[in-house]
Amino acid sequence: MSATIKAVDPRTGIGIAEYPEATRDDVDAAVAAATSAATDPALADPARRAALLRAIAQRLQQREDQIVALAGSESGLPPARLQGELARTTGQLRAFADVLDRGAHLDAIIDTADPAATPPRPDIRRTTVPIGPVAVFGASNFPLAFSTAGGDTASALAAGCPVVVKGHPAHPGTSTLVAGEIAAAVADAGLPEGTFGHVLAADHAIGGALVDHPDVRAVAFTGSGAGGRALMDRAAARPVPIPVFAEMGSLNPVVVTEAAIDARTDAIVAALTGAIANFGGQLCTKPGLVLVPEGDAGSAFTDALAAAIGAREREVLLAQPVRDGLGRGLQALESAPGVAKLTDAEAIDRGAGFHARPSLYRAAAGDLGTVGTLGEEHFGPAAVVLTYTSIEDAAAALVRAGGQLTATVHAQPQDHQQLQPLIDAAARVAGRVVFDGVPTGVAVTWGMHHGGPYPAASDGGAHTSVGMTALRRFQRPVAFQDAPQELLPPELRDGNPMRIVRRVDGVLET
Ligand code: NAP
Repeated sequence: MSATIKAVDPRTGIGIAEYPEATRDDVDAAVAAATSAATDPALADPARRAALLRAIAQRLQQREDQIVALAGSESGLPPARLQGELARTTGQLRAFADVLDRGAHLDAIIDTADPAATPPRPDIRRTTVPIGPVAVFGASNFPLAFSTAGGDTASALAAGCPVVVKGHPAHPGTSTLVAGEIAAAVADAGLPEGTFGHVLAADHAIGGALVDHPDVRAVAFTGSGAGGRALMDRAAARPVPIPVFAEMGSLNPVVVTEAAIDARTDAIVAALTGAIANFGGQLCTKPGLVLVPEGDAGSAFTDALAAAIGAREREVLLAQPVRDGLGRGLQALESAPGVAKLTDAEAIDRGAGFHARPSLYRAAAGDLGTVGTLGEEHFGPAAVVLTYTSIEDAAAALVRAGGQLTATVHAQPQDHQQLQPLIDAAARVAGRVVFDGVPTGVAVTWGMHHGGPYPAASDGGAHTSVGMTALRRFQRPVAFQDAPQELLPPELRDGNPMRIVRRVDGVLET
């Protein structure tokens, strides 16, 4: 009998459906189809890929009610949040289609020959090509935007790479439903079947087999640090190693200055409370560390934050492993030296379903780096206030916190003159530096960077998983030297027949 994955409603803890789990043969079949699709001229045509992305978006939109209802029952996330997430997912697919329309993904560069240069310079023309089949692992906390039809799938398809998604066992029905819509859009578009594949698995041997498969050329992963690291190590151990673009957890430190506390305590407390507790704090950009100054102002601010967080109702968590992981992490935090719990209620609710109450802790910024648990992500509605003695102390704490997706600063204009060391430290460790806001909410734009130095991301933060440049992860540059015009890809030919943005002899040509 084949294995199944049980979908569980986290609000009740009760199983609601079962789905067949993929086998190794399914992995082999999906990758074989993807390998064949990778060299199919239909997939090489950017106009057909753009049409596919738009068709997927349209299909998902047409099934909105069903997708939102199913994702809600499997994740416990509220309808409004899932409607927003679906809009982001479809908007993202269409935005990548727009990129293809403009040829901006090709990054075409032409350096014309200069025989008079010393040494003489040949004609060099560079474009990009898709790297081949990509394995995508989505996260539990974004069952739509960072899952089956999420940013990794959209950007890999846009780049011209077939995708095989490892469906997440925390939302197996949603993943299966969305995968069915993508497969139908592929068929309607007349693209090869292997353009998109879906293997649903909870057994790591199945996901591992996908990473090991010799025809898979890259892995895109969104999830925990432990999961990302396991796949990185696995991909590096292959006879032919492949890149794993892993976007993992983050502490997302927020520094609040005394002047900001004086000017805006209520607003900052309200914003931070929402960012820490909303959706059970299950966001990779949830502020996990809040750095406040020592002294009366910082104490009053901390009291206000603890009161606001302590007043929140319990939150539903995505799945039992999330609740149990949070429970273990908070237990370690509560028993760590120098850490005080500031909210009264027991954080983990052991009743029916999977729930936690928002909780806040306090420690000294100087302990970050020596008290291990302070440097760990607590995935759920919990955060730690760290008291700092000076801006330099806060900057040093940021550096010790290590690679982050984001770092945030709340300050007033009168602070700005002395803030540069803090901003430098933030830019050194984080992929995105936020001013006077909260790091939750990641806009899908050209300028967005959603990555950061390890352990926030696998590749030193060189690539982003959100925004239009996410597509670059799945392309490889190729330079053609002294190539005859008729053998060049059209984007590199004289006269710019595709009418795209190119850099010619160092100057952008539009
Ligand atoms: P996860 O437990 O790491 O799971 C992600 C996916 O990877 C799942 O399909 C999982 O399968 C698989 N997986 C994990 N370890 C594996 C291994 N050793 N071998 C093969 N497959 C493995 O993460 P999650 O609980 O879904 O998501 C929550 C985490 O994601 C949080 O840490 C959050 O901060 C992070 N996150 C990051 C971003 C970002 O953009 N940086 C965005 C959203 C979430 P199984 O479930 O079967 O283990």
